[in-house]
Amino acid sequence: MHTFLRASLALAVAAALPVFAAGNWSEPQPPIRLYSNSYYVGSAGLSSVLIDSGEGLILLDGTLPKNAPMIEANIRALGFKPTDIKYILNSHAHFDHAGGIAALAKDSGATVVVSPSGAQALRAGHAVADDPQAADADGSFPAVTTPIREIADGETLRLGHAAITAHFTPGHTPGSTTWTWRSCEKQRCVDLVFGDSINAVSTSGFHFLADKTHGDLVPRIRQSIAMLAALPCDILVPVHPDSIGLDRKLARIASGEATSDSLVDTHACRDYAAQFTRVLDQRVAKEKAEAAAKH
Ligand SMILES: [Zn+2]
Repeated sequence: MHTFLRASLALAVAAALPVFAAGNWSEPQPPIRLYSNSYYVGSAGLSSVLIDSGEGLILLDGTLPKNAPMIEANIRALGFKPTDIKYILNSHAHFDHAGGIAALAKDSGATVVVSPSGAQALRAGHAVADDPQAADADGSFPAVTTPIREIADGETLRLGHAAITAHFTPGHTPGSTTWTWRSCEKQRCVDLVFGDSINAVSTSGFHFLADKTHGDLVPRIRQSIAMLAALPCDILVPVHPDSIGLDRKLARIASGEATSDSLVDTHACRDYAAQFTRVLDQRVAKEKAEAAAKH
């Protein structure tokens, strides 16, 4: 492989795998109104979103276990009570997105809502066996011991005037879920997307192409990526905000240099999909090259 290609590939992979940029995962971030009833309440480097339904709150993701008090403080800073959270939704059951959910659910009394595979992982406190990162020895997190409700692909969860739809986007984990909802203010409505990870990343020894233990997983990921690209999408909040530069936008809004209007980007979902299609293509090429080298 040419050095230039190798360097650009390393850059692309670094940009796509925020695990290399974990420095700001616990850095406090003031809560930011995304639009109308929807707020960013996560840390600087891991997304968590609060929706005020008018009849209770909905929280998306808990980020790291140690971030739970920070998320609760952000909710209070907005004038809401964590005990008013009725549902906690999860993108995917890895420690950096689900780790805080056990504590947040216990503190609030909220019902946790996830895909069936996600529910299995949350109850166990670690990734399911067919997760590409199942072998990660550092990947466990506090198990959820409070009520969990399993949601189906395409199902809409309703509370007050909020309606949030689950779109299964398997690939990064078998239970990965992207959540969408519409938020309206006066005459204007925007479509918000809580975009799950769709990067083809694994612990060593796992293959996305067919191997002895499973069939070809690549078409499933391509389908997830295509589905994400086609969503009505005015504001994308990826679970790793730095994957689209959302962390920098939030910092500018927090410092008063920009307003929440800067968050609207109708190309964001398509760009996100294109970015992770490149990651997948590189991963497939790498697996094919490794397989060829063995023969
Ligand atoms: Zn993950």
